[in-house]
Amino acid sequence: MSYERVLWLPGVLRAVGLQVVEHPGWTTRGLSTARPFTPRAVVWHHDASAPGDSPGVPDYMIHNFSSAAAQCWVDRAGRWHLIASGRAPHTGAVLPGMPTNETSIGVETDHTTGEDWPPALLASLRRGTAAILRHLGVLPGVGLHFHRTICSPPGRKTDPDRLNLAAEREQVALAMTSATGGPSRGAGAPLPLPSTPPRPVPEEDDLMLIPAGTPVTLPVPEAAPGTIRRLYVAAADAADVSVIFRQGAKVTRAITWHVGDGQSAMASLTAANTAIGGLPTSVSISARTPVVAVIAAVPA
Ligand SMILES: [Zn+2]
Repeated sequence: MSYERVLWLPGVLRAVGLQVVEHPGWTTRGLSTARPFTPRAVVWHHDASAPGDSPGVPDYMIHNFSSAAAQCWVDRAGRWHLIASGRAPHTGAVLPGMPTNETSIGVETDHTTGEDWPPALLASLRRGTAAILRHLGVLPGVGLHFHRTICSPPGRKTDPDRLNLAAEREQVALAMTSATGGPSRGAGAPLPLPSTPPRPVPEEDDLMLIPAGTPVTLPVPEAAPGTIRRLYVAAADAADVSVIFRQGAKVTRAITWHVGDGQSAMASLTAANTAIGGLPTSVSISARTPVVAVIAAVPA
């Protein structure tokens, strides 16, 4: 049973240009080692503090650590405050299979319901989370969660308010592929830095290679009468494939497929199956191992 303190956080965050405030005692703070701590995901929260700057939150988190705290707090200027390096009580009860206090890093933010997100806070939250997930070797479709999307029973939590999980996963995925996305974990399967130029629009029914860790967006051509479009994704090695459907700029559905060795997954691109309010106009695909994807026309 291992207890993996996240002592690498300051280096990983500073490597992508973020400001880090190490609060005294953070390197040894955490819930007891009687239970494991093996973080493989990040959970975003908001702290429900009063609107505007709430600089007293780190002290509150430290002094109420065993009841209400997380490893990190991000202020409205985008500074990452480190509160604890060990297990923290940030999730409460969660749905089956979702990240727990034992398996996730909690990131609190200086924000409350109905408050606008300061651009500096949101940008830093995305960049820092991308750096953390790169270090962990996990893509956002698997590794980024919101408190409100994991809590049990559903509806018990509303934070972080005003953010869309699918859209944020995509933002973090984009940050992970940038050159400033942070160092990758040496021992694991690091996500490569992007080296390919922007891709031309593919020909109809073209098989597209989706490089490891690099999201690729495919346009969905209009289907001729009597036909529908289908998306197929195939993997030589087992992969968790993140698929985001969009209509224009709007995300209409986001799913994660587990595609086994040499197998493929398929979705019919019909309004009922893939979109809220109509057909998708594009599909973004990413995976940690290379996969191939094609949007094919098939009889309806
Ligand atoms: Zn929360």
